[in-house]
Amino acid sequence: MTNAERRSKQRRKRKRQVKILRGMLTVAAVAILVLVVRLIQILNPNVIQEGETPDFIGAIPVHTKYIPEGYAGRPGTLREIRSVVIHETANTAKGTDSENHSRYLMNEAKSTKISWHYTVDDHEIYHHLPDQEIGYHAGTAEGNEEGIGVEICVNEDGDFEKALDNAAQLTAYLVKQYHLSLDDVYQHHEYSGKDCPHRIREEGRWDAFLEAVKHYMGTI
Ligand SMILES: [Zn+2]
Repeated sequence: MTNAERRSKQRRKRKRQVKILRGMLTVAAVAILVLVVRLIQILNPNVIQEGETPDFIGAIPVHTKYIPEGYAGRPGTLREIRSVVIHETANTAKGTDSENHSRYLMNEAKSTKISWHYTVDDHEIYHHLPDQEIGYHAGTAEGNEEGIGVEICVNEDGDFEKALDNAAQLTAYLVKQYHLSLDDVYQHHEYSGKDCPHRIREEGRWDAFLEAVKHYMGTI
């Protein structure tokens, strides 16, 4: 091997080493970036990652079962949360609890622009959409863009009083989680004029509902 050949070989070897080193540095940089992002998420409880909503709010179990991405009811549009929009399902048929509405949305939201974030009944909560994404429930673009939609079950075989109380706990949690105030809790009616939440409105119980939310804001 001539000196020229030896130098050329060494040069190729150095080049390989530089390449490997660069690769290692890139991997390390990506790992550090992932760690920093994760740390920011941990230190900032306001950022909830998909699938990381609590398993319980108070003593109420929360089932996270998101409408699949790409369905008509889940455009995946991120927004700033400014309100909680209270609805009632207006479905009094037996068995139309929150699980039933979860199944309904899994079918219906596939090809229809219909969706909301939570359904609450007398014993549990289903979470259908990440809070940071818009849904189609308020009847107006403004309501859909800024609100978290909460549906309260009114099935005749359910305990409406308990469902209302559970909804107040969920609403209190959301108000606190997103640094909102009681003034940011709206009836669906206030956005679109629809008579919803029907029973709360008909029975004149809106103020009492807000009082319950306020109470739970102190305990949740
Ligand atoms: Zn409504």
